[in-house]
Amino acid sequence: MGVTAIYPGTFDPITNGHIDILLRSLRLFDHIKIGIGPNPKKTALFSLEERIYMVRESVRDISTVSVEAFDGLLVDFARKHGAKVIIRGLRAVSDFEYEFQMALMNRKLDSDIETVFLMPSEEYSYLTSSIIKVVGSLGGDISTLVPKHVYIMLKDKFKDGKG
Ligand code: ADP
Repeated sequence: MGVTAIYPGTFDPITNGHIDILLRSLRLFDHIKIGIGPNPKKTALFSLEERIYMVRESVRDISTVSVEAFDGLLVDFARKHGAKVIIRGLRAVSDFEYEFQMALMNRKLDSDIETVFLMPSEEYSYLTSSIIKVVGSLGGDISTLVPKHVYIMLKDKFKDGKG
């Protein structure tokens, strides 16, 4: 059976920073379930289907990672999959306040579930999906910051003028 951890996020789109955190969490847990959720505060560039596709394609060679969309409370999603661990990445101090608030709220909602924070490699510590979208839309080179298929899909989005 082993221990399952949930790695939730918007993944709009998935970046090499997300993948860095995922690979680190695989060193600690037996199975990672990536939960692709809505983010009420952000309007997504990619549809849910596109985000699922991009994440699935990024982890297709890792048999211990699965991907699923979720709606509603993260603790309900975790419970549904028998997971007692939530993984979050911490970049700079600026992530801390929001992450702290979310972790404590999730603990209040379900005290059996622990949030575990992992730090990415320094080279990804400034990387966010938002900055990828801004730089990409202005024609900057983001080819080393996202998986190849994501890079192609981003280029395609901006070419259409949808970004
Ligand atoms: P973002 O915050 O980039 O919009 P998500 O909402 O998809 O991304 O974030 C999902 C999780 O992945 C969060 O815990 C976030 O802190 C983490 N994460 C995203 N990018 C990175 C990165 N470059 N390094 C470490 N963690 C990251």
